[in-house]
Amino acid sequence: MNTIYIIIALVIIIGIPISIFLIKAHLRWKKIKEKADNIKNEKIDSIISAIENIGECEPTAAILIKDKENQYSNQYSISIPSFISSPWSGRKIEFELSNQLPISIKDDSSINAIGNCIYRAIPAPRIKLKSGKEQNTWSVKRYLNRSPELKTIMSPIESADQEEALKYILGPTIRVLGGIQWAQSAEYPKCEECNGKMTFLLQVPGFLFPNKVEFDIHESEIYVFSCIKHQNNVQKVIQFY
Ligand SMILES: [Zn+2]
Repeated sequence: MNTIYIIIALVIIIGIPISIFLIKAHLRWKKIKEKADNIKNEKIDSIISAIENIGECEPTAAILIKDKENQYSNQYSISIPSFISSPWSGRKIEFELSNQLPISIKDDSSINAIGNCIYRAIPAPRIKLKSGKEQNTWSVKRYLNRSPELKTIMSPIESADQEEALKYILGPTIRVLGGIQWAQSAEYPKCEECNGKMTFLLQVPGFLFPNKVEFDIHESEIYVFSCIKHQNNVQKVIQFY
């Protein structure tokens, strides 16, 4: 009998503080989210221009940020922005939402759309390091550290929570032409024509697509590549989390 009482006492002693802690954390995050939603509604354009202003060098990559919903769009295509000088600029990658998600490259560009979500392309800030080397930066923490403008926009939120709040505001992003983030180990495809290592074009989180293909797209990350010598060849790599 005594053992049971000890166990009950332990559950109460340990369980109650943990529950209180979790409830407090939940309420705290709820408040942060409310403030972040307000900032997003009123100042998303200022946030985007503040991020753009961080760049010190010619951009070599782009970030696509969810802009608005367009219920009439049923396209799945991402354009390589013209503000980046690349052999693929002004062309687009189209995804066909069936089977193994076939992709193709088209000569025109259009809105960036994943179904009814439209994405806005902005240059990934490219900064100069102390060593003189240039580097693309994708870190929200660095954006806040480098932009007093962004800090001011985010000031209704406590400094310690601004990073999480800004990540929440920007949402899942699509990376174009740089900053490849492998879900598993690096896996560059080879060109079917010349057997050369292909160049990274873009990366899309699979959960942004509806689940209408033959693999678990919501658990995947989709990477698209092309060959510098054969620019009409595109291939994709799918990795799972
Ligand atoms: Zn090739």
